Amino acid sequence: MSTETFEFQVEARQLLQLMIHSIYSNKDVFLRELVSNASDALDKLRLDALRDDAPGADVSDLHIGIEPDREARTLTVRDNGIGMSHEEVVRLIGTIANSGTAAFLRELKEAEDSTAAEGLIGQFGVGFYASFMVADEVTLVTRRAGEEHGTRWSSTGEGTYTIETVDDAPQGTAVTLRLKPEDAEDRLYDYTSPWKIREIVKRYSDFITWPIRMIPEAGAADGTDSTDGTDGAEAAEGTGAAPEPEVLNSMKALWARPRSEVGDDEYHELYKHISHDWNDPLETIRLQAEGTFEYQALLFIPAQAPRDLFLQGYKRGVQLYVKRVFIMDDCEALMPPYLRFVKGVVDAQDLSLNVSREILQQDRQIQLMHRRLAKKVLSTVKEMMTGAPERYATFWTEFGRVVKEGLLSDFENRDAILGICSFATTRDAEQPTTLAQYAERMQDGQEHIYYLTGESRQAVENSPHMEAFRAKGIEVLLLTDPVDEVWVDTVPEFQGKQLRSVAKGDVDLGTEDEKKESGAERERQREEYAALLEWMSQHLGEQVKEVRLSSRLTVSPACVVSDAGDVTPALQNMYRAMGQ
Ligand code: ADP
Ligand code: MG
Repeated sequence: MSTETFEFQVEARQLLQLMIHSIYSNKDVFLRELVSNASDALDKLRLDALRDDAPGADVSDLHIGIEPDREARTLTVRDNGIGMSHEEVVRLIGTIANSGTAAFLRELKEAEDSTAAEGLIGQFGVGFYASFMVADEVTLVTRRAGEEHGTRWSSTGEGTYTIETVDDAPQGTAVTLRLKPEDAEDRLYDYTSPWKIREIVKRYSDFITWPIRMIPEAGAADGTDSTDGTDGAEAAEGTGAAPEPEVLNSMKALWARPRSEVGDDEYHELYKHISHDWNDPLETIRLQAEGTFEYQALLFIPAQAPRDLFLQGYKRGVQLYVKRVFIMDDCEALMPPYLRFVKGVVDAQDLSLNVSREILQQDRQIQLMHRRLAKKVLSTVKEMMTGAPERYATFWTEFGRVVKEGLLSDFENRDAILGICSFATTRDAEQPTTLAQYAERMQDGQEHIYYLTGESRQAVENSPHMEAFRAKGIEVLLLTDPVDEVWVDTVPEFQGKQLRSVAKGDVDLGTEDEKKESGAERERQREEYAALLEWMSQHLGEQVKEVRLSSRLTVSPACVVSDAGDVTPALQNMYRAMGQ
């Protein structure tokens, strides 16, 4: 068979360089990534088979194998799952399809030091390429279930890779790493040691629901009590006994185990497996529903917003399982769009394995589940506000912008959403405020919650509309996210207090006494300035509706005001940007 040589896509090449020079300090995670991919491949094959969609596939004894070879200094991770076709290998392994990658690499280049770079890698995760942290050559042999020919992919990570067709590949995928010679003497990186492998799998992949079997080398001792990993081959040489594979993981679905039995670490590893994030989640949420429609949910709030959260095509939703069987990723029927950053697993007992996205959207039980999950996420954040204010602050910085979209779409939960919102305020440049806190601080006689929308904090603070409020010491919320322009118009009040823009309509700031006094004064002024106002209206003509005297300014001579129902300038810009 002929061997073809291909070049890596530019982004892929950059990423590989980073891996080869291993700026990520925890190299062990390469094994987690390979096992994770193998597990996904087995999930996919089982699902296809259950749906009679895998003709010619062998679904007996699905498992993951880990085969160390001390002599050759190689490590192979094997699965008999779905495998990849020739075309898929080129598409999936030679390029990086993830939409956030370009942005990631740009930031990486700008990262000053390696700690910053490591942080970025952690946010992004590099999956299969992590192999190049420990290997100077990676070979992947794969055959798509049901297909005849297999494909062999090989690379040293230096810019090119080779691909050839092979005749005798077993179903599924085997990834063989030639471990870096420079790590040979370092016990920390002794990835052919059974002890080391056992420890890594236990730490990162215990929850994987497929058996992970370590296949010891022929003639090697089983390594059970070998804590230093240096015995083995020599000790047992010549016995010739066929080695017994050892299952390394407990294979229990974490969401089905009682909370008291599961450590946070275990939850975090599951999170990393399903989210492809290398960082721990900010919050873990568990939910068990009993009764006619039984399900278990294990949800996670990430610690960082993914880069593509606001891009079109962002995959939202959690994974759906039916009775422990993986059914689909990104199940959007289970989470509202404004909680699209929530990751996790929902395992339902009474759904068909053949359930489709379309059916899910219409299913009443699923709609109930959707509502319950959304409420649970919102109430968890609410608890964070008091129980873990710092974590809440992180949450709001990362996801506040998305959550506020819910004010426009989820009317049932509007109060709950408003309850977890924080806003910048004139009161304190550093410390955002909730609406409840604002309401508590309202001055005697102040009836409304005041806000001003705009493009930036600075623009808003310097607005002439603010002058009278500043002069009177009245707190104003500074709303600078584009979405703020939209939701403020749809949310009439909070705890009985109206939300009022300081830039719209007549703003009445005086106390009763001041109003009476200024009533007469106003009348006098109106007469005095009538001629000037008339002159200004004529000269501004079509550009304004009306020119009137105002009590809202203390320093600026004039400002532009909208009617209460008018579209604000920032919103006009947003509509224009959206092409409307
Ligand atoms: P991710 O898992 O985040 O998609 P990876 O770099 O780990 O990214 O893998 C890239 C893609 O290569 C996977 O999405 C999958 O389609 C394919 N792949 C990797 N390993 C396997 C495997 N063992 N079996 C089948 N496909 C695989
Ligand atoms: Mg992966």
